[in-house]
Amino acid sequence: MQRTRGWHWCPFCPSSFPYPTTSEPLRDPFPLGDAEIRVPGPNGLTYAAPNLILHYVVIHAYLPPAGFVEGLRTLAHHQSGGQVQDEKAAGEHRS
Ligand SMILES: [Zn+2]
Repeated sequence: MQRTRGWHWCPFCPSSFPYPTTSEPLRDPFPLGDAEIRVPGPNGLTYAAPNLILHYVVIHAYLPPAGFVEGLRTLAHHQSGGQVQDEKAAGEHRS
């Protein structure tokens, strides 16, 4: 994660919304808009996004590129020691 030189707010929310934008409604919300994240994706690509992407996905239903999502799943899998299952594997266990 790379910190930015200032705070950015969500350009899609009304200006009357609280500043800074936070990770609400997630549990233990934290401020967003002061950093960039980088996610190694498939095929050697690295995706860069503002940390506000969490807000964009949760509140504004933004769908990041498939490679970004796949890279996040891979990172989560490695950081959890293999305990995080992707939706496909979880679905296979349900059937
Ligand atoms: Zn917003």
